[in-house]
Amino acid sequence: MNSPLIDEKGFYGDFGGAFVPEMLWPNIEELQECYQRIIAEKDFQADFKILLRDYVGRPTPLFFCEKLSRKYNARIYLKREDLNHTGAHKINNTIGQALMAKRLGKRKIIAETGAGQHGVATATVCALLDLECTVFMGAFDMQRQKPNVARMKMLNAKVIPVISGNKTLKDAVNETLRYWINHPETYYLIGSVVGPHPYPKMVAYFQSVISEEIRKQVFKKEGRTAPDYIIACVGGGSNAAGAFYHFLKDLSVQLIAVEAAGLGTHTDQTAATTVKGSKGVLHGSMTLVMQDKDGQIIEPYSISAGLDYPGIGPMHAHLFQNRRAQFLNVTDKEALQATYELTQLEGIIPALESAHALAALAKLSFKKEEVVVVNLSGRGDKDMESYIKTIDQFSKDEGYR
Ligand SMILES: *Cc1c(COP(=O)(O)O)cnc(C)c1O
Repeated sequence: MNSPLIDEKGFYGDFGGAFVPEMLWPNIEELQECYQRIIAEKDFQADFKILLRDYVGRPTPLFFCEKLSRKYNARIYLKREDLNHTGAHKINNTIGQALMAKRLGKRKIIAETGAGQHGVATATVCALLDLECTVFMGAFDMQRQKPNVARMKMLNAKVIPVISGNKTLKDAVNETLRYWINHPETYYLIGSVVGPHPYPKMVAYFQSVISEEIRKQVFKKEGRTAPDYIIACVGGGSNAAGAFYHFLKDLSVQLIAVEAAGLGTHTDQTAATTVKGSKGVLHGSMTLVMQDKDGQIIEPYSISAGLDYPGIGPMHAHLFQNRRAQFLNVTDKEALQATYELTQLEGIIPALESAHALAALAKLSFKKEEVVVVNLSGRGDKDMESYIKTIDQFSKDEGYR
């Protein structure tokens, strides 16, 4: 597991590390000491690969979009993470970490979830692998995301409502950390490239299967070792980390990270961390965070629940600072337009998160022969409620017909 950009202590340049209360050190140290050895084991690799193939359905296709290509004057491909079991890339990571927990002799999993997507992916693998699953979720989020709460319960997970603070994701994170301190026998399964070292590095590795496949598929379809562009949305940054991973050192590839602008970066209803954020500790690592001058977290906003996170992972903070990746942001409205465009041109309903990556196509200018890969992180079923509200607006007033 020779992972790019990160040093021994878990820093990507200025960002990363493990900033956790002393009482969590035994847990973090155990993981730091063991995870690389475990991942390298033949058995682990075999189990991980078989589940990715036969349970998740990998490799996911790389689909050439003829009409989208014509419209944006480039050779545009979608990496179809939406076709994974449970409908998004998150399961790549939850399988990897659940196998890790088992190797560490832990049978109880805890996780926190905002919109419920990570909670569902965690509950899914826990059902499969006979692990006990407890998910902390803000009471307000539980109200907003009833179908995902029901899914978790069907999968036999215990969903614990968090009633502190605003009753949203950051309160659920705090509650999970508190629980972990008191229950060191549990394994904390983190859902993105965030958290104390080694989580960001480990999650990036589990998601790196995305760029491993992109490399092979681009070679097969285009006879080239790399595309010219890779575009991915960034909430915490795990699907982007996976899509960028094997191309980070390949400077001919332009990496485009897309954040949610919400109602616009000129408003306070946004989740664009690289525009609004500053250096600070979030979720146990040094990174870019949306915070006020007293260091209090500012509640982010985006129409997309998966991008509604008040920071980005340390790897992305580093890629932003050293300009290896270009960061763009996309408003709710632009994302909705991109959803309807993809739906009407290619017959694919994307997740709202993924629609942010698609909307970046209109903000870049390509040469006709350039190869562009958009990571389609998830499918749109979970977002139907938002889409139902906007059908009239987007298929009549601003439709693409
Ligand atoms: C959770 C989620 C995201 C955002 O998470 P990252 O860690 O930034 O990838 C993006 N797309 C979908 C479909 C998601 O469910």
